[in-house]
Parts: sequence; structure tokens; C-alpha cells
Amino acid sequence: MPVEVLEQAQRELLDCGGHGLSILEMPFTGDEFRGILLQTRDDLRALLQIPDHFHILFMHGGASAQFSLVPLNLLGDGKKANYVETGYWSRKAIREARRYCAVNIAGSSEENQFCRMPTSAELRIDPDAAYCHITTNETANGVQFHAIPDCGDVPLVADMTSDFLSRPIDFNRLGLIYASAQKNIGPAGLTVVIVRDDLLGRAQSATPAVFNYREQAEAGSMLNTPTTFAVYLAGLVFKWIAAQGGIAAMEQKSLARSQRVYDMIDGSNGFYRCPIVPADRSRMNPCFTLADDALTSRFLADAARQGLANLKGHVMMGGIRISLYNAMPDAGVAALATFMHEFREQFEHHV
Ligand SMILES: *Cc1c(COP(=O)(O)O)cnc(C)c1O
Repeated sequence: MPVEVLEQAQRELLDCGGHGLSILEMPFTGDEFRGILLQTRDDLRALLQIPDHFHILFMHGGASAQFSLVPLNLLGDGKKANYVETGYWSRKAIREARRYCAVNIAGSSEENQFCRMPTSAELRIDPDAAYCHITTNETANGVQFHAIPDCGDVPLVADMTSDFLSRPIDFNRLGLIYASAQKNIGPAGLTVVIVRDDLLGRAQSATPAVFNYREQAEAGSMLNTPTTFAVYLAGLVFKWIAAQGGIAAMEQKSLARSQRVYDMIDGSNGFYRCPIVPADRSRMNPCFTLADDALTSRFLADAARQGLANLKGHVMMGGIRISLYNAMPDAGVAALATFMHEFREQFEHHV
């Protein structure tokens, strides 16, 4: 979370917008909260230039709920869907989808240990399937699609949980995107779903109303109590991004920050190693290992002592993972680069 946003939330905690009520006390049916939600939605539409024929939904349940809600809402009469398998999170989405339909693995980088993304030419899209699902940034593996792959005419669905708001989105290429908020927006609890008009109205009848895209679109995301505090905080983050220069500024910063980390790795004479092919390296979650894995726990402990916390890689990958979400200050990346340099100088002779 940007510190300015946390400070504003702290200042406003007892009295939000001069209404004499805390955001935590407001009824969601009242004008005050409705105003906050509409403003938050409009600000997001402006930030990402979301066309009018896309609905913005504020939902519950996290991205993991969307693993089920996408097939429940989009299959219609269809019995199959395409999935591109690129790492930990896409695999989870695939596992859930198999409860509802036949999954065509349209592309997979498993045999490359998920160290690169499948190319558009490698994809084998079933044109009769209801949609094609991709994960734009594999948070655990450190691989990212830098361009939206070509999935033909089937609606493209993207889990953008970990790179949402870090670069512009070409909505001409997409049918639906979803992102839970706690990676690159801030507060857990909220999931943003952006869905094209023509994809509404295909839900299975067993879909719970609060998880039905059309019903939530018609109710303005207020079919039941939304995640009020998280919506309010997301609204503050959207305004913060706009004040920083918008999505273009976020993209520039994310490029520069990640380049700095990859330069430290690539310039380390093999002391640090990133297995991901350079063209598909994540700008949000650079992952690397130490040539001498016995040093990994020392690296983590020494880093933590310098205030560089939570650098442990995902269990699927091991090693180190550096998360560079929008709110990460450049000073944090500079401190990391200094630490990586000093750690290498101290231990290089071991390798
Ligand atoms: C974290 C993450 C998820 C899971 O999010 P939850 O909100 O915890 O369900 C799904 N997809 C990606 C890409 C993620 O990074």
C-alpha cells in the first residue's frame, strides 16, 4: 500500500468525507457509500480507459473464487474451455475448471519448467470452446506475458491478479479480466472483475446470485454488502496512481525497478541465477536462485535484518522472489540492490 494512502485512511477513519461516520460504520445502501463506490468505479474506468461496453464489478471471494466463477458464468451451453498452463496459478485455475467442463490445454510450458511463456504460434486453441483462459503474470514462477497472446476468436479471459494496474490493457483483445486486490491494489477481500457486455447472461442456473456476473452488473455490485472498506481503500489507491501520472507512470516505474533487479542478477557472474528466459521475465515478481543453495537461508536472514522482508521464493520455485508492486518505493529497490551486491562480495569465494 502507498504510505500516503494509509495515512489518508488513518486521518479519515473516524469521519469519512465529512459525514460524521467511519467508512466502517456506513450502510452500503446509503448515499455516502454509494457515492464512494461509483467514484471508485469511474476512477478505475478512467485509469485503464475501459470501454463502455465493459462492466466493472466489485466482488468477494478472491481470484480463487473466479477459478470457479469463470466457468460457471461463461460456459453457457458449452462443455469445454481452453486453458494456457504457465505455472502455479494457471494450474490452480485449471484444476478448478475441471469440476465444470472439459479443459483443453491450449498451450503449456511445463516441459520448460515454466521458464518461458508459450508463443502464440504454439497455442492450439479449440475454436468451439467457450473461452480461453490465461494468467498474465505467474506470481510464483516469475514469468509474464509481455503481450497478450493471440487466442483467435474465442473470448479471452485473463487472471491479472498480480500485474493489474502495472501497464495499459488492450480491451479489444479481451473478454474478461479479474484481479484480487491484495497484490497490486492493496486491500484483501475485494476482487475486481471487468467483463464485456456480450458475455453476461450465460451463467449456469446453479450459480449463486452474488457470484453471477449479470446479476451483479445489474445491481451495480451491490446485490449484497460489498467489501466496503476494501472498495474505499482501492478508491484511494486509484487516486494515488492518477496523481503519480497514471498507468503509463506505473509501467515506467515497474520497468525500471525490475530492470535494476535483473541487472543485479545478470551482472553477478553466476552468483545469482534467474532461470526465466529474458523475454518473459516478470516485472512484478523477479525470481532467482543462488548458485550455492546453501546460502539461500543466510541471504534471507541477512536481508531481513536490513528490513528487506518477505523475499523467500514460492514453495514451487524455492530461492528468492522480489515482489515489485506499484507501491514499492524506489528506495526499497535501491536498498535491495546494495544488499545483493554486498552479500555477493562477502560470499562469492564460496562458489
Ligand atoms: C495470488 C493470486 C491468486 C489467488 O488470489 P486469492 O485472492 O488469494 O484467491 C490467483 N492468481 C494469481 C495470479 C495470483 O497471484
